[in-house]
Amino acid sequence: MTMANGERTYQFNALTDLWTGDLNGKSGRLITTGLLGSIRWWFEVLVRGLDGNACDATDTKCEDRNHCVVCELFGCTGWARKFRFEVLDENSGTKTNQIKQNQTFSLCFTPLRPIRVEEWTLLGATLRLIAEYGAIGGKTVFKPTDEQSRAGKLHHKDYGLVQMVSSQQFDGTDRGDLGKYLSKWRKLNHGEFAWASLQHFWCVNGKYLGRQDNNKSTFNQLLGRQEAKNQGQQLATRNDGIARWLAGSQQESKKVFSFKDPARTFGFVNPRLIDFNAMKQRLTNAWGQNGWNFLAGDKIIHQLFAGKEDRS
Ligand SMILES: [Zn+2]
Repeated sequence: MTMANGERTYQFNALTDLWTGDLNGKSGRLITTGLLGSIRWWFEVLVRGLDGNACDATDTKCEDRNHCVVCELFGCTGWARKFRFEVLDENSGTKTNQIKQNQTFSLCFTPLRPIRVEEWTLLGATLRLIAEYGAIGGKTVFKPTDEQSRAGKLHHKDYGLVQMVSSQQFDGTDRGDLGKYLSKWRKLNHGEFAWASLQHFWCVNGKYLGRQDNNKSTFNQLLGRQEAKNQGQQLATRNDGIARWLAGSQQESKKVFSFKDPARTFGFVNPRLIDFNAMKQRLTNAWGQNGWNFLAGDKIIHQLFAGKEDRS
């Protein structure tokens, strides 16, 4: 068994402010549990994308030694997290206030118990996934807007885009090794969470969806909210279902996220409702044919695990 037990520190540059407060209250303080929860969520997405099994942390059945590969590293009832998590400022001091745009910060993971090389590889890939294709923090649920009067409102502000400053570490663990490692852990029925997998994830860097004025919103257009009204009953009902799933609700996550500055749009598909081709068609309706690149599923997985030579 290969262990690597020094601490690992990953340095980032905040491209936007990060939401590091609690979900309901003030954003000024830095509460590390929100960031760690977000990292765990993307770790789960990566694990499912690699055909591993990850429990839903909000409704986990993992306990003690009977737990999934994600709980093995991040902990669950009766099983402690394997590392100490710290957020450091540019001087390597503990960061206690909100991470603001253009600040440099580091995420430091110090092993409290042995961490396997596969776990480090998955963690490093998770952080690159967040930086290159996703977002981090509690509030990634806002829609951008082109309307100046609305632009200052909190719910249209971009949060959570980061750039990784540290270079990629190669531990010699490839996708095949990870597959072998993941297959050893507790099997789960992902059920309603099956969509939250890198296999169903897509991203377009450099483009955003938003509200242009009172009558036009490319975000609503993508969800299919406007079209539904003018269609036949059956098609309208089906499209309503897709729109509801993509938009999410109080209890359930949205499946499309868009950021204006810097521009990035990403989301998830659900093969039973809307696949990559249908999603790409909707994006084409919003942005036209050219000038953007739809990255999805396996292509992103390949990029994350490409060797030193392959990486483009
Ligand atoms: Zn678990």
